[in-house]
Amino acid sequence: MTHPEKSDDAHRSAFRALPSVAALASDPEVMDASSLSPASLTTMIRAVLDDHRTAIVAGARPDAGAIRAAVLAALRATESVRLRPVINATGVIVHTNLGRAPVSEETAAAMAAAAGASVPLETEPESNRRGGRMDEISGLMRLLVGAEATLVVNNNAAAVLLTLAAVAEGRGVVLSRGEAVEIGGGFRVPDVMRQSGARLVEVGTTNRTYAADYERAVAPDTAALLKIHPSNFKVTGFVHDTGLAELADVAQRAHLPLLFDQGSGTVLDPRDYGLGGETTLGQSVRDGATITMASGDKLLGGPQAGLILGDRTWVETIARHPLARAVRADKTCLAGVAATLRHYVRGEAERRLPVWRMITLSFNDLRARADRIIMGVPGEVWTAATVSTKATVGGGSLPGETLDSVGISLSRADSGAALDDLARRLRLSRPGVFGRIEDGRLVLDLRTVLPEDDERLERVLAETLATAPA
Ligand SMILES: *Cc1c(COP(=O)(O)O)cnc(C)c1O
Repeated sequence: MTHPEKSDDAHRSAFRALPSVAALASDPEVMDASSLSPASLTTMIRAVLDDHRTAIVAGARPDAGAIRAAVLAALRATESVRLRPVINATGVIVHTNLGRAPVSEETAAAMAAAAGASVPLETEPESNRRGGRMDEISGLMRLLVGAEATLVVNNNAAAVLLTLAAVAEGRGVVLSRGEAVEIGGGFRVPDVMRQSGARLVEVGTTNRTYAADYERAVAPDTAALLKIHPSNFKVTGFVHDTGLAELADVAQRAHLPLLFDQGSGTVLDPRDYGLGGETTLGQSVRDGATITMASGDKLLGGPQAGLILGDRTWVETIARHPLARAVRADKTCLAGVAATLRHYVRGEAERRLPVWRMITLSFNDLRARADRIIMGVPGEVWTAATVSTKATVGGGSLPGETLDSVGISLSRADSGAALDDLARRLRLSRPGVFGRIEDGRLVLDLRTVLPEDDERLERVLAETLATAPA
């Protein structure tokens, strides 16, 4: 044990041996590597020196070389862009960890144009009067799904929170016990309900809820009936779900609004694409939901957004609630949602929207692409093969549903640690490639790779496998 005062003295002399901020800032290699302002560079160097002093207190020796290296590493880290485009070869189409739906080229261009310029967001060009923030999107949505009005907010979690707060604060909302669910990290229906100030009135049982259950639960302080699409799981067996249309009848008889959290935002019917049934936005409006809520970046295939659509009077009430301002969408988002909706009204959604292009890629084309890519991949260390896989829609949409797909599998006799290393190096390449490891091999699923990315994928594979540690 050292005497504390003695070691303080030792530390002070070790600190004096450290290079000064000025010396590090004027080091030729540091100056060459830095694009920072003098103030930011000074802050960064001070942080590195602080870390080093902490290390000295913990027993390390002063090391000018290590400090210089740490400054250079910190400079490189500042330059490295985290949100760079990567290739999603996971086979999960709407991959939340990879940013959900990639938007169409036209949508991305509309978003970039709006971001870099002034736009008449709340000024009517014709009259130069204030207003009209949602006019364009409302018009497109009316054409597309028959909703009288639409409000776009930050995301669907915000749409549900805001709608409940505006419609039911301090009052009861009737929900089936089977729908008091958790959807993805942090979105638990009972918690959102509590935050909104509405009171959850659960009816029925986990597996069976009937129209009569809702009817019996309606009380003088009931504000609404709520239905939630259980996006990320499926209950099968002895199950009864009260359909939306039937629930709309109950709501109408009770003179209450019916709120439906549809989830995926799908406009196209997944059944037409070999997937399971899911209520589309149009069906929700036709079935009589007063307000439908959905995400913009799941099966709608647009930017992150929450859609609140339906009855005009209710949408206006929701838009006037104080929370609406806190969760409102910006010009970039609105430009992106409008551009995405335009693909639908033109009838070109499945040709233009990446999510739907991925869903509709043909199995035979996938196989031909995999065979072609493999031909350009060196085969000395790793064995590349075309394999059948199952892709999923993901993003909490269509649970349990799979799409037949084709992948490139990479394996070698002694995979183990080498497999993790290969997966890591692919993720860190440019562009990064994200696959999945299963059954002792790395699988790159081509259903989530658009054909225009094949060349880049092949190049990254060729480069990465050529430098693989044998
Ligand atoms: C995904 C989902 C949400 C949350 O939507 P975000 O856009 O991620 O905020 C809420 N409800 C349902 C039914 C969902 O599927």
